[in-house]
Amino acid sequence: MMRPLLRAENEWRHDLVDNAWTLVARNRRTTPPLEVSLTQPERKLRGAGLCAFCDEVEHHALDRVRGAGDSLALALPSPTPLAFVEYGPPPQRPFESAPALGAHELLVPLGAHSHGKRLSELNEDDLTLLLWLFTRRRAALAGDERLRGVGFSLLPPEVTRLVHLHAALFAVPFEAPRFSSPETCPACRELTDARAKGRVLVEDEEVVAFVPFAPRGDLHVRVASSLHGTHVLDAAHALDHARGLARVLVALLERLSRAAPRAPLALSLRPVPLVERRDGFSGHVLLEVHGLQEQDTALGAALGARIVTLPPEERAALLRGAAPT
Ligand SMILES: [Zn+2]
Ligand SMILES: [Zn+2]
Repeated sequence: MMRPLLRAENEWRHDLVDNAWTLVARNRRTTPPLEVSLTQPERKLRGAGLCAFCDEVEHHALDRVRGAGDSLALALPSPTPLAFVEYGPPPQRPFESAPALGAHELLVPLGAHSHGKRLSELNEDDLTLLLWLFTRRRAALAGDERLRGVGFSLLPPEVTRLVHLHAALFAVPFEAPRFSSPETCPACRELTDARAKGRVLVEDEEVVAFVPFAPRGDLHVRVASSLHGTHVLDAAHALDHARGLARVLVALLERLSRAAPRAPLALSLRPVPLVERRDGFSGHVLLEVHGLQEQDTALGAALGARIVTLPPEERAALLRGAAPT
């Protein structure tokens, strides 16, 4: 016999930043809502091999930064790059192909404490070093005028090729989004709405973490600079800005891991321009944390809809309640 139909006030919401639709499907809420994790990790299998970062004696680093207590993070070329700086510009016309121009680097906090770890296990110092290293590599790559946008992603070890925690930086020959004012910038408009509707989770002087109006999933949170632009990535005071971002990220990750202790989380920085031109348009620094493989992820992807099981305002209230005491 069929189960009775579970009717609910489901709603469509549009996400300005991704230009995509989210379905708030209240009748698909699982109990507890976020206890979904990846299938059997390959960790055991992979743990047996050597680590390219822990075991290699000498690293030919592109850059390195040192933090308090001798912590060290390196920027290294990816051993299996998605693209190469030696190549020419991308194709201009449909059905043309060209060798892939781009820069693919790894940002790696060294040390056994980062081996096989997840995002939520990173401490403030390591996150600060990673973000600082990113600003330095962005500045270095800006010398190559063929490259236009740069971002990074940091994934849990279960879904990466290298089990040691690292971020993948990717600079590409494509423009990153730029906007002339807070009124036309989706990130600024999102932030205004999040403040007005109670979706802010953590806020300090120049960084705000909030639940999006139309999230991609139940654990999707954005972290934005509170002012329009990319000044928090500038070389001037880069370390201070990196620490400010890291502090908010750590406070956010503590809340997420209390609410969903087993959920694997990914962090990304959406592409920003490598250089801000003086034409009145600029990018906006926007980091995103989201859960991988939530209950309805596969269904949503197959149907072309992003499914969340709780209205984002309620999710924000729950996550604020998950603040460390
Ligand atoms: Zn390692
Ligand atoms: Zn903006």
